[in-house]
Amino acid sequence: MNSRRQFIKKTIVGAAAVSAVNVIPAVASAQKVVKPIVISTWDFGVAANQAAWQVLNQKGKALDAVEQGVKVAEADLSNPTVGKGGYPDRDGHVTLDACIMDEQGNCGSVAALEHIAHPISVARLVMEKTPHVMLVGEGALQFALENGFQRDNLLIPSSEKAWQEWLKEKQYKPIMNIENKSFNTERLPGNQYNHDTIGMLALDAHGNLSGACTTSGMAFKMRGRVGDSPIIGAGLYIDNEVGGATSTGVGEEVIRTVGSFLVVELMRQGYSPEAACKEAVERIVKKKPETAKEIQVGFLALNKKGEYGSYALQSGFTYAVCDEQKQDLVIKGKHIFK
Ligand code: ASP
Repeated sequence: MNSRRQFIKKTIVGAAAVSAVNVIPAVASAQKVVKPIVISTWDFGVAANQAAWQVLNQKGKALDAVEQGVKVAEADLSNPTVGKGGYPDRDGHVTLDACIMDEQGNCGSVAALEHIAHPISVARLVMEKTPHVMLVGEGALQFALENGFQRDNLLIPSSEKAWQEWLKEKQYKPIMNIENKSFNTERLPGNQYNHDTIGMLALDAHGNLSGACTTSGMAFKMRGRVGDSPIIGAGLYIDNEVGGATSTGVGEEVIRTVGSFLVVELMRQGYSPEAACKEAVERIVKKKPETAKEIQVGFLALNKKGEYGSYALQSGFTYAVCDEQKQDLVIKGKHIFK
């Protein structure tokens, strides 16, 4: 059992507790805004949230908080799904996807970026230093190197070993429902997770929202494959009037439904963060009922009042919450399928 699962066992609060969280007066009140607050996908979001909290607690900007926060996951070599140490594509190249969005609707993104350990910071630079939103592949690498980022070898021995194992069968069928305990994980190299993304949303002391999203995407993916995570509106969306949303899971389905934008627009119509996430996953079920049973997609949302919620297709999705009261909360997301 890897440390991640052990960690979940220790700190997780279940779905019942989620409702408890949702009804505590500070969160439920229409008057009181809970801020600052930062939330992020999966239990590895705890360490990332804590780094973001260092910024938020000093009255820093949500934008700086989310960048600092997700960099923790990017630097964590034990995490095979984000940053350096991420599993490579099927040809052995580690290619990273990331995006960032601020309270003014500014955004930046990189996709299929190789050799750079912190794609989120390159995405931020794309936002701040170019007239563009997205740079990909060689061009993104050139931009990063020209701006002082160091070239690095992102393929660490444990990930290379997992890839070598995968090459024995070369089965191109990404197993995305890996957290679901009913799923047979025996065939996976090292019995490890083969996908996941850190998506982070923060509301700062000034009442401004920002978000960041970063991943190595599907393990052993087709070369050139890009998922939802660097696509503004799919893997991440922020509207400072309303709230923010981010996603994890099979990126193709999130792109097809423009999932994070959908969640934010539903919140604009008055949906709670949880209800908006639920509606977004239900759209996937409605469009592809059979596929939906076989895959995982999870959405996470935060509104302007500091209220948050999530919904996933399958069990196993968790998210981390950090505010003044508690800096290491992990919540088990609600889900459609049992
Ligand atoms: N959404 C990511 C992708 O499709 C993977 C994940 O979050 O599980 O690349």
